[in-house]
Amino acid sequence: MPAKSMDELVSLCKRRGFIFQSSEIYGGLQGLYDFGPLGVELKNNLKNAWWSSMVYERDDIEGIDAAILTHSKVLKHSGHESTFTDPLVDCKECKSRHRADHIKDKCPNCGSNDLTEPRPFNLMFKTSIGPVDDDSNYGYLRPETAQHIFINFKNILDSTSKSLPFGVAQMGKAFRNEITPRNFIFRVREFEQMELEFFVEPGSDLEWHKYWLEERLNWWENQGVKKESIQILDVPKDELAHYSKGTYDLMYQFPHGLEELEGIANRTDFDLGSHSKNQDELSIQAKTSKNNDSNAKLAIQNIESKKWVVPYVIEPSAGVERGLLAVLNEAYERETLEGDKERIVLKLKPHLAPIKAAIIPLKKNDSELVNLATKIKQDLQKTLKKKVILENTGNIGKSYRKHDEVGTPNCVTVDYDSLEKNTVTIRDRDTMEQKTVNIKDLNKHLSI
Ligand SMILES: [Zn+2]
Repeated sequence: MPAKSMDELVSLCKRRGFIFQSSEIYGGLQGLYDFGPLGVELKNNLKNAWWSSMVYERDDIEGIDAAILTHSKVLKHSGHESTFTDPLVDCKECKSRHRADHIKDKCPNCGSNDLTEPRPFNLMFKTSIGPVDDDSNYGYLRPETAQHIFINFKNILDSTSKSLPFGVAQMGKAFRNEITPRNFIFRVREFEQMELEFFVEPGSDLEWHKYWLEERLNWWENQGVKKESIQILDVPKDELAHYSKGTYDLMYQFPHGLEELEGIANRTDFDLGSHSKNQDELSIQAKTSKNNDSNAKLAIQNIESKKWVVPYVIEPSAGVERGLLAVLNEAYERETLEGDKERIVLKLKPHLAPIKAAIIPLKKNDSELVNLATKIKQDLQKTLKKKVILENTGNIGKSYRKHDEVGTPNCVTVDYDSLEKNTVTIRDRDTMEQKTVNIKDLNKHLSI
């Protein structure tokens, strides 16, 4: 399916309260966005779908939720302090700054080719922790959620008695001071990640890497991002991150181009090895730097051989905002209806839809209709515990258009038959077909 126009998606997101530019009334902050009343629902629904597939629908994965502010030693030994950089160039003409690999020897701002040599720019947000603002009291906003899973490895092992293979999942905020944030919510400075670190016996890592590639493709398909829309890129060896033995990038055709939706990396024993003390006792295979700061051995003892093993790690790592952009892009349709009319419809999977059902009384001033509609809404709210709303505008057509645009799968109309025969009409968002059902059976007929 061809990508939709980014402008159309941005406009819908603002108009209907999904996503706003952050600090907009003060001119906005680049690379930061706020999620509105419908955006927060969509985002939570996507995250819940991920959490459920990882933590609730399996027995071999536990979840954690770690602190965002991070000890500087964590990011020293992870390699982020020395290598988490992008190449930065300055335009000597207009003084603007750009990412060297995003421009072609020419300033995109003024066109000058009088640029400085690229130099590494660290993407982490450094901040002081505690009341003394000096060089010894600094930390970082975490640049990824993954490190906190590694540094909690022993805690999780000791408290859950897991054995290999097993995984630890985490969702939450991460921060990167992007030189040039762009493409709406695709490349931003504050974002959310959904990361799994799946620990396996060394030697079984290739098999598990392929397994997680399949699992993740299936998951995206369940969120409405079809397999045909994703290209699998086996990242060439010379482009791999320093910790990786192999990475599959799931490349998706976003409105602005083909870009990474999720990376599935084989991080080997690099991370647990790097954060371990007494590394020479552990036969670590990755190239790690000596660690005199850690007080833990991040390894697991094989029950039979009694040998200590540093597990390999397979990491499926997805960005929530990118995921939302892909989901919105797949769901967005501009359809021509009879009589040259048009409708915009978000064909979201029902479990992702921000509003599950809109209850619409036929007339807004008829108290009998409105009362019954209100009661149906309240009952539904109580059973579903999801967002159900009363749409009392008195204009059925307009209500349908609005709920098509925000992806509400069910519009339920309350009319005079409802008062006489206890029936309501459900209108399906995608087919626009209507069916009449008894009020007491309403639940069974909704797409949720
Ligand atoms: Zn310039």
